[in-house]
Formats: sequence, structure tokens, C-alpha cells
Amino acid sequence: MDKINVGILGATGSVGQKLIELLQDHAWFKIAEVGASETSAGKLYSYAATWAMNSAMPDDVANLTVKKCAPDFDSKIIFSALDASVAGEIELEFAKAGYKVISNARNFRFDPKVPLIIPEVNPGHINLIREQNFEDGFIITNPNCSTIGLVLALKPLEDQFGIESINVTTLQAISGAGFSGLTSLDVMDNVIPYIKGEEEKLEREPLKILGSLADGKIDFAGINISAQCNRISITDGHTECVQIKFREKPSREDVIHAWNSFIADPQEMMLPSAPRRPVVYFDDPYSPQPRKHRDLGGGMTVAVGRLRDCPIFDYKFTITSHNTVRGAAGGTILIAELLEAKGFLTG
Ligand code: NAP
Repeated sequence: MDKINVGILGATGSVGQKLIELLQDHAWFKIAEVGASETSAGKLYSYAATWAMNSAMPDDVANLTVKKCAPDFDSKIIFSALDASVAGEIELEFAKAGYKVISNARNFRFDPKVPLIIPEVNPGHINLIREQNFEDGFIITNPNCSTIGLVLALKPLEDQFGIESINVTTLQAISGAGFSGLTSLDVMDNVIPYIKGEEEKLEREPLKILGSLADGKIDFAGINISAQCNRISITDGHTECVQIKFREKPSREDVIHAWNSFIADPQEMMLPSAPRRPVVYFDDPYSPQPRKHRDLGGGMTVAVGRLRDCPIFDYKFTITSHNTVRGAAGGTILIAELLEAKGFLTG
């Protein structure tokens, strides 16, 4: 099959570079255009970007001239990794002009007509696109990086046992703050107990994602969530310590089995970026760890461990997931694959 040309907005940033790294040998998509701010526009990508990935910058992308983020791209499929301060206006302009925008930014996550998608969790919510009033274009969003890991671990538990309440404390990697986010003096040898807007996202986004779609609207899930978010001195990989109360307490074995047996549409459809298993439980008490487990399943699998009784809730456990792969670039690529497989992109 001929590859589908895609454009990347915010291509010089942390998530934009991860998109380039993950898309360079993609089976279905080819990077045809890249866009960034006025400072980068007009330069060759190799000059505009300070490449921070571990792999080499792909030659074909290095030689692309960075465009302004205006809706004159030839590619009709757009991945957005734009800074939230500009993403809202730019993504809207693209959607109005007929582009299919898959966004990492927060701006439209709570628009009632915009799906907030984790492909294994709520693939059916993509039908919400039909409620948008653009002629050919649409906007679809990827959740926050810590929401994605958490909700992947919660989904099989919610389906099988019903969840009443969650208390979650995060230990989040530096790359989650983007390239201009934090200086080494801020974060080295330190824990920062505040990430602007993060606790609100982690308390609200899961309710939309785990909600049900009926009559063109999402009915939010009725789970109580309390979140505390911290930035720590780790490059990649968010860790989250979770306490959970169920509607009816299952056995420990049943919880672990629910995680280890969980598969969904992306696995059944064998989408190129789908990990064989989205969630894996580790029995050894020293797991999960960001350095050891963030690359599991190509960075698309959530590692879970330390399931034990909790004297306040029913159980407690720990998860680790890759924030710029599953939590951002890889997540949006999997959404695009799901959209293509279901006929929403080129069908
Ligand atoms: P970043 O490293 O700061 O990159 C921001 C990108 O936006 C750069 O390419 C920058 O281009 C571009 N940009 C800035 N101002 C612009 C303007 N006025 N017009 C056009 N482009 C402009 O940020 P990031 O961490 O990659 O995050 C990108 C988005 O993904 C954000 O909305 C963020 O909240 C979201 N997100 C990030 C993560 C993560 O783990 N990092 C996870 C989930 C979601 P220049 O280089 O030319 O300035």
C-alpha cells in the first residue's frame, strides 16, 4: 500500500521529535511536512531542531524545510505537538480547513464534541467526531501523559469489578515538561511538588475516557479521584502510586489476571503500534521502575506491580509508563492507526 503523507505541527519540540522518531519507519504513514514557530519556520529541520532523541535524526526529515503552522499543508492528516498556548487556535484553523488533526495538547480535551481517546480503552468514542461541524476535518485528542498510564491500568478493573474511588500520587519525568520546561538547577537532586494543572487533568480526564457515549454525548464515569502530582529527576517514564476502592472487592489473583489478560481493539486489529499486551503485572516487589520498564512493548505497555492490601482503600499498587511514547507521540500514532483501520482517515 502507498504510505499516507502526514504533517507534524510542533515538530521541533519534545513530543514532535518523538513523533518523528516513531514515524520514521512506520508501515502506513510517511512524514511529508513539519511545522513549528516563526523562529523555526523557513529553516531546514536539521538547523531548526536541537535533536534530543537517542536515535539519529532521519535524513529525509533533516532535509525538510520547517513550515509555519498555517493550514496550507499538502498532507491532510496532521499530528499536533504544539505548545498549549497556541494549539487551540492553530488546530481549529486546520480542522476548519479540512485537516484531520490528532492532538497531544490539552486545549480541546473537554470540548463535548471532541473525543479523548486511548485506543484500548474507549475506541468507540471516535464516533463523536460525527458531531463536529467541520466539512471534512476534525479534531481528536490524546489524554495527558499520566492519565494514559493510569487509565490503561484501571480499564480492565472498571470493566470487571467496578471502581468506586482512586487516590493517586505521581512521580513524573522531566521530559513531560517539554524542552523549555525546567532547568537542571530546578530539578536535579530535587522533587517539585507542583505541576501546574496536572492534578485537575488527572482527576477529570479518566472520567471522560471511562464514560459512555450515547446520543452524541459522553456520560462521564462516576469514580471519585484524588491526585497529587510531583516532578522528579528522571528523564523519561512516569511512576504512579495508586490506592483503589472497588464497588465489590475482588481477589488479588482476579485483579492480576484482569491486567495480564487485557487486550482490546488495537491488539485484535493488529495495529502497527499496538503492544502485544497493554498492561503487564510484575510480581517482584522492586518492580515497576522507570529505567527498567518504560520501554516495555516499545514504550507502549504499562508496567504494574506491588499489588497489596490497603488499610484505607481495598488495594494499592504502582504503575510505570513511558510519558512521551504511550503518554504522547506513540499514543497519537496508535489513535491515527485506529482511525485509519476504522475508515476515518482515508476511507
Ligand atoms: P515543547 O518541547 O515545548 O515543544 C513545543 C512545540 O511547539 C515546538 O515545536 C515549538 O516550536 C512549537 N511552538 C511554540 N510556539 C509556537 C507558535 N507560536 N507557533 C507554532 N509553533 C509553536 O513541548 P512538548 O513537551 O513537546 O509538548 C507539546 C504538546 O504536547 C504540549 O501541548 C504538551 O502539553 C503536550 N504533551 C506533552 C507531553 C510530554 O510528555 N512532553 C505529554 C503529553 C502531552 P519552536 O521550536 O519553533 O519554538
